[in-house]
Amino acid sequence: MAEVRLYVDHPLAAGQPVPLSRDQANYLFSVMRLGIGDAVHVFNGRDGEWRAEVAEAGKRRGALLPQRQTKALQMPPDLWLLFAPIKKARTDFIVEKATELGASRILPVRTDHTNAERLRRDRLQAHAIEAAEQCGGTFVPEVAELEALERLLAGWPAGRHLIFCDEEAAGLSSDLRALDIAAPAAILIGPEGGFSAKERERLGSLAQVTRISLGPRILRADTAAVAAITLWQAAMGDWQ
Ligand code: SAH
Repeated sequence: MAEVRLYVDHPLAAGQPVPLSRDQANYLFSVMRLGIGDAVHVFNGRDGEWRAEVAEAGKRRGALLPQRQTKALQMPPDLWLLFAPIKKARTDFIVEKATELGASRILPVRTDHTNAERLRRDRLQAHAIEAAEQCGGTFVPEVAELEALERLLAGWPAGRHLIFCDEEAAGLSSDLRALDIAAPAAILIGPEGGFSAKERERLGSLAQVTRISLGPRILRADTAAVAAITLWQAAMGDWQ
């Protein structure tokens, strides 16, 4: 039977019971048919991964008992992903892939040509949790509330690179390896409509911004997000 990995929002330490939510109890005991004494792996984004045994199995509640740590916490590199939300399924895809590929924070941004006005942050956060459960990660990136790009840029941290993926740079050469490896970074992906002239001007005025091309063809935003994280990880992330 497939190994169950579960994210829990609770401290993990040997012999300290972890209460389960109604949904988690339903998943473990009704869907996965686990019972008392069965083993699962749990993580909380802070204490690594633990082997835990089912100590209480009810219809709507239950508890796990962590026994020993099976993996230390492994933080992804300090890489944020800023992206303009697109259609629901594609936005879900971006959050899922960013989690798998190792982003430390996911920030949906409203740009001049963004269509999505509202965003269910909790739903996207649940997608990040599911992706971490599935890919063996011990860390879950925070999904931030939708914020205007302009506001984010106004308070942009001095020491953080902003890698601006610009469709108008398509085909130009660009080399991420020119950046300072040790510095925190962020990738910015625009919406289907691309960036406005005003946004380009604002981005061009910031010292932290490096404008890059993702190749000679125009990628859809979801492809662009995956490609940009992959490039950054290969050049200076935790893949090496
Ligand atoms: N409507 C725009 C394309 C937007 S693609 C146009 O036709 O020009 C969505 C986003 O993906 C872009 O804003 C950019 O951030 C990124 N992107 C796609 N292809 C890219 C490329 N070749 N180089 C850099 N960024 C790219």
